[in-house]
Amino acid sequence: MDRRNFVLKTGVAVLGLTAAPGLVNGKPAGSTAGAAVEPGQAYGHFELPKLDYAYNALEPHLDAQTMEIHYSKHHAGYVTNLNNALHGHPLANLGLNDILKNLTPDAANAALRNNAGGHFNHSLFWKVLTPGGANRPVGAVSDAVNAQFGSYEEFANQFGTAATKVFGSGWVWLNLDAENKLFISTTPNQDNPVMTKIAEKPGRPILGLDVWEHAYYLKFQNRRKEYIDAFMGLINWDTVGANMASWR
Ligand code: MN
Repeated sequence: MDRRNFVLKTGVAVLGLTAAPGLVNGKPAGSTAGAAVEPGQAYGHFELPKLDYAYNALEPHLDAQTMEIHYSKHHAGYVTNLNNALHGHPLANLGLNDILKNLTPDAANAALRNNAGGHFNHSLFWKVLTPGGANRPVGAVSDAVNAQFGSYEEFANQFGTAATKVFGSGWVWLNLDAENKLFISTTPNQDNPVMTKIAEKPGRPILGLDVWEHAYYLKFQNRRKEYIDAFMGLINWDTVGANMASWR
């Protein structure tokens, strides 16, 4: 079984460093919708968002090589595979948030789940990292953090502890709940709290931390705690506040 057939028959998402160009020319098993697609033409409409800063802008906390591979290989791969997974899928015409909200945990959705999640999660992740901006909560998000956690320090402690405890690959989130209160959660793999039919506790994420080893291993190896500390010092709380406002 070649790689493409393996992916199509098992529903296992293509994660990792290659963009799996073979998939672009294939028609997913069981799909009845859509005409033949020319080589090189993607099925879906999602694109890799522009990175707002240079790969080396977060040095020395996050290294340029990790940033380049993470963005131009990993995130780009999720976008390619998201577009492929949408071909013939009933959710194909929805926007990203609505795809995530409507995804069910069926095995047949595995590729879409992993890659729609991967695209959403990384798009948020790049935006909350910054070489500038407020490095402590400000305004409404500061009030919300203090109301829920008592202080920024206590929030940072709880968020960092949650990140340390993620087993294997996953994400840590700061979210708004249904009452617009903040809560911290974690998800495995590329799941996220927008996946209301999948996440243990659904929410609207305003801050996300990638704790996959691909996010830190080149610089920090197994020292995840040092990576978490570096991340906490790179958060752009202006953006987190804007995320909070945009969900409300
Ligand atoms: Mn990642």
